[in-house]
Amino acid sequence: MNDSIRPEPSHDFSTPAFSHCPRCGHGNLGFRPPNHYSCRFCNFHFYMNTAAACGAILTLGSRILLLRRGKEPALGLLDFPGGFIDPGESAEEALVREICEEIGQVPKDVRFLVSFPNKYEYGGVGYPTCDLVFTGRLCREPTSEDLQAEEIAGWELLEAGDIDLSTIAFPSLRKAMKVYLDRLALNIP
Ligand SMILES: [Zn+2]
Repeated sequence: MNDSIRPEPSHDFSTPAFSHCPRCGHGNLGFRPPNHYSCRFCNFHFYMNTAAACGAILTLGSRILLLRRGKEPALGLLDFPGGFIDPGESAEEALVREICEEIGQVPKDVRFLVSFPNKYEYGGVGYPTCDLVFTGRLCREPTSEDLQAEEIAGWELLEAGDIDLSTIAFPSLRKAMKVYLDRLALNIP
């Protein structure tokens, strides 16, 4: 692993996201960064653990699929198909489910590539995530009818040389794309 793909310990989880105990409702919840809450009233301990998410770099021939986000966070930036892993799901099951929901097809040759931590801001709360990134192949070009309209504003199929990492939504996905492009340049399958 070289410096360019080492996770950056830059996410700030030092500010508590919650002030009240989720069990007894007392408003004097203690917080120990990065993710441990304890209630001074009922002694409940709550860990806001890392949520697992998955995404895929899907190719059609030499082109790479990127989806344009149609909602916050990162509205309008490019994203990988994927999403959060539901309770009881494997990463592979979640990935296929999300890809079917988002672009209406089942990917082929799905393989794990790399993972990076991320902070997903939603509703004023920063959720720690670990984004598991896979590679796979598309069966065909998506059509606008395939897209999950409430989440996706559009899609691009780009040659590797045309991908601008600064247009990709999250640091974790930018790093994963860099790993993918570096491997492609070195002809590593
Ligand atoms: Zn409590």
